[in-house]
Amino acid sequence: MLDCTFCRIIAHEMEGELVYEDDEVVAFHDINPQAPVHVLIVPRKHIASLNDLAPEDVHLIGKMVLVAKKVAEQMGITADGYRLIWNTGENAGQWIYHVHIHLLGGRRMTWPPG
Ligand code: 5GP
Ligand code: ZN
Repeated sequence: MLDCTFCRIIAHEMEGELVYEDDEVVAFHDINPQAPVHVLIVPRKHIASLNDLAPEDVHLIGKMVLVAKKVAEQMGITADGYRLIWNTGENAGQWIYHVHIHLLGGRRMTWPPG
C-alpha cells in the first residue's frame, strides 16, 4: 500500500523519526504533536482501521499495546501517566487509514476528550 502515508514511513520511503522498530510494529513521532510526547504505534501490516481487524490480528494488536508501554518507559512518562487513543472512523477524527495508537503524555490531560 504505497499510497498509504504510514506504509511509506515503515518502508523508509518517507521521513518519520522512528523511536521503535521490530519485525511487526513500528513507532515514530507524530508530525503534529498534541503533547510533549506524541508517538504513533503502527503495525507493519496494512490494516485500515479497527473495523478491519480479523481474528488472526489478536497477537499483533496486543503487541502494539506492549510496544506503547515500552515507548512510554523509553520517553520517561510511565510514572506520571499517559493516554492511548485509537481513532476509528470519521466521528473519531481518523485521518490516516492505517491502524495506529496515539501515545500521548508529558502533560496533564482533560476528560472527557474533545
Ligand atoms: P488520526 O487522526 O488518523 O488518528 O491520526 C493521524 C495522525 O498522523 C495525526 O496525528 C497526524 O499528525 C499524523 N501524521 C499525518 N501525516 C504524517 C506524516 O507524514 N508523518 C508523521 N510522523 N505523522 C503524520
Ligand atoms: Zn498502510
